[in-house]
Amino acid sequence: MFTRPVKLSAKQQGTILRRLQQIVGPANATANPAIRYGYSGTSMIIPKAVPDFVVMPRSAEDIQKILVLARRHKVPITPVGSGSQEPSTYPFFGGIVLDTMAMNRILEINTNGAYAVVEMGVTFGQLAEELKKAKLRLTVGSFPSTISVLGNYLMTAANTHRSSGIMDDILGLEVVLADGTVAQTGSKAFAGTYPKTEWHYPSNTFPNVKNLFIDAGGTLGIVTKGALRIYQMNEAQAMPISAFDSYRQALEYMKRLSRANLVQHICAWHWILYSIIDHLGQYGKGAPADGLLYDPWETPDDRPYILAVPSMSGYREVMEASERAAKRLTEELGGRIYTDECHERWPGAWKFFADHYRDHQVTNQFMGGFGEGLPLMPMVIADPEGVVQIEHWGLRFLRRSSLKLGLSYYSHSLDQCRSVFLRMTTFVSPESSPKEIERATAVRQKYMEHAYKRYGAIPVRYDYGHPPGAVLAKTGGHSRMLKAIKRSLDPENILNPGYSISMYGR
Ligand SMILES: Cc1cc2nc3c(=O)[nH]c(=O)nc-3n(C[C@H](O)[C@H](O)[C@H](O)COP(=O)(O)OP(=O)(O)OC[C@H]3O[C@@H](n4cnc5c(N)ncnc54)[C@H](O)[C@@H]3O)c2cc1C
Repeated sequence: MFTRPVKLSAKQQGTILRRLQQIVGPANATANPAIRYGYSGTSMIIPKAVPDFVVMPRSAEDIQKILVLARRHKVPITPVGSGSQEPSTYPFFGGIVLDTMAMNRILEINTNGAYAVVEMGVTFGQLAEELKKAKLRLTVGSFPSTISVLGNYLMTAANTHRSSGIMDDILGLEVVLADGTVAQTGSKAFAGTYPKTEWHYPSNTFPNVKNLFIDAGGTLGIVTKGALRIYQMNEAQAMPISAFDSYRQALEYMKRLSRANLVQHICAWHWILYSIIDHLGQYGKGAPADGLLYDPWETPDDRPYILAVPSMSGYREVMEASERAAKRLTEELGGRIYTDECHERWPGAWKFFADHYRDHQVTNQFMGGFGEGLPLMPMVIADPEGVVQIEHWGLRFLRRSSLKLGLSYYSHSLDQCRSVFLRMTTFVSPESSPKEIERATAVRQKYMEHAYKRYGAIPVRYDYGHPPGAVLAKTGGHSRMLKAIKRSLDPENILNPGYSISMYGR
């Protein structure tokens, strides 16, 4: 167990660096302070910890050897993909940062089987480009094209475009465990014995261990490659946009459409957020100032409270009928079809919706927004009744708090709306003092706790709370099981130990 950053003697430093360079080649392992600093948590508020080494492996074999070295010298390893989830890639105890972005080969696009096999460093832009050539697509989010596909898919389905009926897009993974074992999951697990076996099925006759590595933050094993679901671009795409006066109506609509299998995905966008997206689409950065002046539950006369944006795809005849059904359901629920008006009135938002939900393209449109401040966005998953209550209570609670900047939200269906994702999009100003940030963080925490206690919500994606391990401690027997798995897979706790503390506790 690490309790403070490792202190390596000059001799150990030299030995480890030499060995790393033997493994990956001199150009791919470094102790250069300027490079190491780039992995130190540069956007973070808490004090930085600079790793001792940065290494870029090229293969599972490289990673095996690096893990053997790390165990021998008791040096922590922090894996990093595109590095956008900084607190989870923070090398809190120093040691080795293992940057997997140089493992960037698309190994296979299996058109017949509808999956692609990619290494950890393959980006959304890279894979989307390749797939386009074969009229195929993958699940994209509002993140930029340079993000690692597996980096994203290894986190809970919080994607603004995750398919409504499919909880995750990973069929199988190859993982290197802390003891150097290379394991493949799902159907591919049999390939060592039966070489003809491929990646087509996420399970095999045994418990599905693939999910152990989703949301694990690199604390249970290092992922080297994965087989991912890919989808055909069908003959026709439809995106009828519906406008509603309340979140409850929009959610009922999302439920009905997804449960009737009319949509691949459906997401609802609150008026302040689609106004901001419209602004970003037109000007590239910033936000319309008037959006911050209204109470978010009161809509200005010139726009609907909320838009429901579906992604529909199929044969032409089916799409025509689906659009008619969508119109009828919208009207039955008291809404109206807003597609043309959205196009004319909100061209920037329209562009994002069309890129995203109709054409399945990777987009940089959100980046301008992310440059505006420090995002402290509470997000939860709840059932359809709980989430409606959270929306009603949450807007009012946050509006009265220090976390009111950018107060708006988006919400999307998971698993045909059995669960619903709701993310408030609050920021704090980049000029905030540490005290102000602390206050806003406490507000976020209070919101989450209230949403769990009163409305039956659960945390999503690395929301482990404070003190470390606080959220896992609430999960009873599940917590014992997970800690036992961690102890057995990584007895020396060399895999992302800084993050392990946050997740499992001290
Ligand atoms: C503008 C913007 C918009 C966004 N919109 C969306 C959206 O619409 N939908 C969405 O889902 N997300 C969204 N995000 C978040 C984004 O998806 C994640 O930031 C990103 O996908 C995480 O991938 P990463 O490669 O950056 O992960 P990293 O930050 O590199 O790593 C995340 C975790 O995985 C671990 N890890 C890294 N590599 C490995 C490995 N090889 N094996 C095991 N563990 C590893 C790390 O240690 C860390 O704990 C958005 C982000 C931005 C900036």
